[in-house]
Amino acid sequence: MNVSRKALTLVLPSFLILLSPAGFAATVEKPPLVSKEAWGSKAAPIPCSRRQVPVWITIHHAGEFWKAGADPAESVRRLQKWGQNRPKLEQPPRDTYWPDLPYHFPIAPDGRIFEGRAVAYEPETNTKYSVNGNIGVDMLGDFEKQRPSIAQIRSCVALTAWLCQTYRIDLAHVRGHMDAAPGQTDCPGKDFYRYFEDGQLKRWIGTAMDGKCPDIDPGAALPDGPSKPIGEP
Ligand SMILES: [Zn+2]
Repeated sequence: MNVSRKALTLVLPSFLILLSPAGFAATVEKPPLVSKEAWGSKAAPIPCSRRQVPVWITIHHAGEFWKAGADPAESVRRLQKWGQNRPKLEQPPRDTYWPDLPYHFPIAPDGRIFEGRAVAYEPETNTKYSVNGNIGVDMLGDFEKQRPSIAQIRSCVALTAWLCQTYRIDLAHVRGHMDAAPGQTDCPGKDFYRYFEDGQLKRWIGTAMDGKCPDIDPGAALPDGPSKPIGEP
């Protein structure tokens, strides 16, 4: 038997496994999602005029203090319903109708990632920035007043790495909401934005994109930041 042909047949299958249909290395597995059906989404249709091609991943916190024992699915359903009722509940300019969740991926304190608005549609915001092309990742809780859980940080890193790979988004295009809308918000909160400031978040995401498991250590509480971990009474 021709040796080079034998070598080729041995090498080819593993080579194919490592390449996605687009022809680049796929190293990050899709993290598990709580499907829309599972959490009981009642999304209304979004107009075609709001379709997008994702080029940014913008990270948020909900900015609402997370109480121990609260149900994340209930919180996500409430947010969706509130968005749909804004014309009745809110004053201008906040009275615009949001047909679906404002974000694409809410993340619960226990690390579960919820399937929100379809990535093919731009998100919603109360701040002024160009929302078209943004994937909104939203961690439940208020990181000005409480610290994210390790499970939440891990899921944020795994999800962002997978989104970067899937939509071919460069790490330079991963940002906090306050980077997108400077001077308008403190989102994603002091105790999450710290990981942007010290570069750790992008290192963790980069490690995950290399197909390795990042060693995520949230570190000590900041001297002027919250000390209470989310979910603790
Ligand atoms: Zn935000």
